[in-house]
Amino acid sequence: MSKSFDVVVIGAGPAGYIAAIRAAQHGMTVACIDEWQNKDGKHAFGGTCLNAGCIPSKALLESSELFHRAKHEFKKHGIMVGAVELDIAAMQKRRASIVRQLTGGIGGLFKANKVEGLVGHGKLLAGKKVEFTPAAGEAEIIDARHVILAPGSTPMELKLAPFDDDRIVDSWSALEFDEVPEHLGVIGAGIIGLELGSVWARLGSKVTVLEAMDELLFMTDRDVASVAGKEFRKQGLDIRLGAKVTSAKAGKKGVKVEFDDASGEQVIDVDILIVAVGRRPFTDDLCAEDSGIQLDERGFIVVDDACRTRVKGVFAIGDCVRGPMLAHKGSEEGVMAADLIAGESSEVNYDVVPSVIYTAPEIAWVGKTEDEVKASGRPYKTGSFPFAASGRAKVMEQTSGMVKVIAAKDDDEILGVHIIGPMAGELIAEAVLAMEFSASTEDVQRTIHAHPSLAEAIHEAALAADNRALNFVNR
Ligand code: FAD
Ligand code: NAD
Repeated sequence: MSKSFDVVVIGAGPAGYIAAIRAAQHGMTVACIDEWQNKDGKHAFGGTCLNAGCIPSKALLESSELFHRAKHEFKKHGIMVGAVELDIAAMQKRRASIVRQLTGGIGGLFKANKVEGLVGHGKLLAGKKVEFTPAAGEAEIIDARHVILAPGSTPMELKLAPFDDDRIVDSWSALEFDEVPEHLGVIGAGIIGLELGSVWARLGSKVTVLEAMDELLFMTDRDVASVAGKEFRKQGLDIRLGAKVTSAKAGKKGVKVEFDDASGEQVIDVDILIVAVGRRPFTDDLCAEDSGIQLDERGFIVVDDACRTRVKGVFAIGDCVRGPMLAHKGSEEGVMAADLIAGESSEVNYDVVPSVIYTAPEIAWVGKTEDEVKASGRPYKTGSFPFAASGRAKVMEQTSGMVKVIAAKDDDEILGVHIIGPMAGELIAEAVLAMEFSASTEDVQRTIHAHPSLAEAIHEAALAADNRALNFVNR
């Protein structure tokens, strides 16, 4: 007799594994099928996020930032450490160990929540049946009352610079270099390009980033992007905007990259080229033709606001559906799908999904940019506070950047908060919570913030929106 479950989840990234746990917490029987294979051929739960994305990139960002600060900042504090040397093997060992601990933890969570983790390929057939093919062994058919598709995404490849996993690589390989490339080229100054470019620049690479668009970080508030551009260039990232790559030829020793920009035809020779031009939904062999699942023209699974596909009882969540490709967005969709299956009401507030870029300084935002608010036609006000005027930022030696709050002129509701500066990724949580509760700048103005803390910059920016900043004159 074939196995049957209340819920079968395909994919165990941050969208799928969270959906599986939440569904099990509702008392349903749950299986979660996942086929991720690491470069050593071993399976691990956690998907891109834990194995090749959020976690390993942040491990290297942390290590490389400490290396940089030990070299350049400790002296200012009166700490003399002598020559600071890099042990890249030890740094990579730490990264791998953190990944192993966290991916192993998901197996433990599955066990504790009675989720059956199945290692292998899952495919949705017609009639909510799922074909499960284990890594070694015969395919079997599983009956599911509900299915949640969470297959994630994969790097987009450029035809003129195909990945060879040696000289032209994707973001995953770029996290596992065992030596520091002398000259690193990056195509795409998006989130991955800037985070990974920063890692290797801090560790000693000369980094050239080629960005097709004429402006940096088009999705961020312009004031933030302008500070970011200056900071990254100060750090030595050579960012070429409006760069159209025309050819990339890999040889034994490196890659010759040709591109056009405002100054004409250019050629650079790099040791390694990272291609980071976005990711595409990964739906290869996921759904049988007669499954009824519909893909849009870019390959995303078509869903409604509640992540329901066109097939009753089948949901799709995470990077494979519309919206930002962010781990926390996928996880919240997983919670929503499981709650709805359990018959509870649930929703995701897509207006307040925070974004964070983990460079130094960090960049974080939630809600609308000033240009978006302007375009909406709603009268608005803004308030900014520079970290240069923050006591806590000063003692941390991290005074670059600012907080900017945008609010409606009519009812004072906060419409967007944009931060570039120390711990922006942590600070943004206050803004997200405020916006989740439709807070006004007055609510934040009247909230007591500890002193001295970085969060005071949010308080002051909210005050500045009414020209009432107390520790800065911004009129
Ligand atoms: P994935 O994490 O991609 O997981 C999907 C899983 O499903 C995989 O294990 C895959 O093998 C499996 N699968 C696919 N098809 C099948 C099938 N048919 N059968 C069985 N299994 C299948 N986001 C953030 O929010 N913060 C960050 O700091 C951040 N940093 C990143 C850094 C990098 C370098 C990269 C590449 C991404 C980063 N992201 C970050 C994005 C984040 O990783 C993704 O948004 C997130 O992983 C998406 O989750 P998911 O569960 O939808 O898909
Ligand atoms: P991205 O969309 O952030 O950036 C891609 C960049 O490449 C864009 O600036 C684009 O203009 C540029 N580009 C595209 N084609 C080009 C070409 N031919 N030549 C030069 N430039 C070109 O994509 P990404 O950096 O690959 O990241 C993929 C996804 O992963 C993102 O959507 C992001 O949400 C997610 N991610 C998130 C984090 C985080 O949350 N901190 C970190 C890494 C990745």
